[in-house]
Amino acid sequence: MKDPLIIAGPCSVESEEQILATAQALAQIPQVTMLRGGIWKPRTRPEAFEGRGEQGLVWLREAKQATGLPILTEVATPEHVELALKYEVDALWVGARTVVNPFSVQQLADALRGTDVPLFIKNPVAPDLQLWMGAFERFQKAGVTKLFAIHRGFSYYKETPYRNFPMWELPIELTQRLNVPLITDVSHICGNRELLLPTAQKALDLATDGLMIECHINPDAALTDAKQQITPEALKTLLSQLVFRSKGTGSVEHDLAELRGEIDDIDGELLQLLSRRMEVSGRIGEYKKCHNVAVVQMDRWKQILADHIAVGGSLNLDQELVEAVFEAIHQASIRRQTDILDACGNQ
Ligand code: PEP
Ligand code: MN
Repeated sequence: MKDPLIIAGPCSVESEEQILATAQALAQIPQVTMLRGGIWKPRTRPEAFEGRGEQGLVWLREAKQATGLPILTEVATPEHVELALKYEVDALWVGARTVVNPFSVQQLADALRGTDVPLFIKNPVAPDLQLWMGAFERFQKAGVTKLFAIHRGFSYYKETPYRNFPMWELPIELTQRLNVPLITDVSHICGNRELLLPTAQKALDLATDGLMIECHINPDAALTDAKQQITPEALKTLLSQLVFRSKGTGSVEHDLAELRGEIDDIDGELLQLLSRRMEVSGRIGEYKKCHNVAVVQMDRWKQILADHIAVGGSLNLDQELVEAVFEAIHQASIRRQTDILDACGNQ
């Protein structure tokens, strides 16, 4: 893969000393490409720290001048856009709470019309691919061309070890549909320091184009997201532990395309076989109907499943897979046969 984009920096710009010390330490890490820092913080509760506003932009620009790192901040209103551009912020991101609101997204798109600032669009809080795509479309229509996606995980109805559940299939589908670079914000996915390494590795294995990682010179004292921020030193260690894989270009891409083609052919055959099997199931259903035989015959089924697992084992298939596939097929067969009986009862 070409060098991944590594965006690091504090959740919030808190003070001149904090952003300068953090930026200077980050600038010593060769892989770090951009410095992030929140200026206006979307907080769940009103008493919480809401960012330093314009004063923070003065300090963030100082950090850029001191280190040469391009700077990136979150915008949620046209006023934020105007101020960020006034203070020479190099790239902007739209946060998860803003992307959920098409009115806000449209206002930002109108504010950015005619500029060529790179724009990163986070996924909306809810796992709604259409809403995320809609945001891209609004900015594209406004002529904003340098667009990136940031995956920061999704609110989830169950407790999980993550702060925001990754649902990796959603960002992957977005990039397949829109062909935009994808950055994984592992800090907001994890919500803690412990999960950062495996989550970042997973993102790289799934061919992300970069990582966003929150870093603070003194994470435990951070005014926002203290639990998930790490020191620049810890970031250096984390980056050295990650395996950056090839993204597949040239002949690798070609070989992969061939193998994927083979998989597609096999899946097609599987579908044909399943359809034939269901058709025979239907014929058995008709037979049982005419001869008054019960649909489910548990002993026979248990024996068949045991035989399949044994054969599967000799073919190097694990038991869990064989069981799950045949359970699903069996259930579908039963449904087909009971439908036949119900239709008969209605005659
Ligand atoms: C952030 O990046 O600090 C932030 C508020 O992120 P999100 O919009 O993903 O919650
Ligand atoms: Mn944060």
